Amino acid sequence: MSPDPDCLFCKIVAGAVPATVVLETRRTLAFRDISPQAPTHVLVIPRDHHRDVAELADASPETLAELVDTARAVAADEGIDAYRLVFNTGAQAGQSVFHVHGHVLGGRAMTWPPG
Ligand code: 5GP
Ligand code: ZN
Repeated sequence: MSPDPDCLFCKIVAGAVPATVVLETRRTLAFRDISPQAPTHVLVIPRDHHRDVAELADASPETLAELVDTARAVAADEGIDAYRLVFNTGAQAGQSVFHVHGHVLGGRAMTWPPG
């Protein structure tokens, strides 16, 4: 899909908004969350604009698989062997940026259920 001119993460992909990028692949980008909730808190996104993980799975399952692989590589680079990969999907579930992103969270003990 073409970039959405109003989308924050499309602007990060384009370099128009700065971000601390930790890993880049052909179809994905990983950068540190601006408000980290754990010692490791990295967002992994497709370069192409899709609003949520279900839409990405429909449109480009190979990109979703690459995104999961990028998350694994980020965790390995961070030296963590346990992490959460979270896709908030829909406003009520906490999604605030509607360009799909996986949160890679780790480096501390986690509780369940999430809030
Ligand atoms: P969501 O709430 O949609 O699941 O996650 C959006 C995430 O994007 C939040 O964790 C928030 O801290 C992060 N975020 C919002 N604006 C920016 C920004 O400008 N730069 C970066 N790196 N992260 C951002
Ligand atoms: Zn976007």
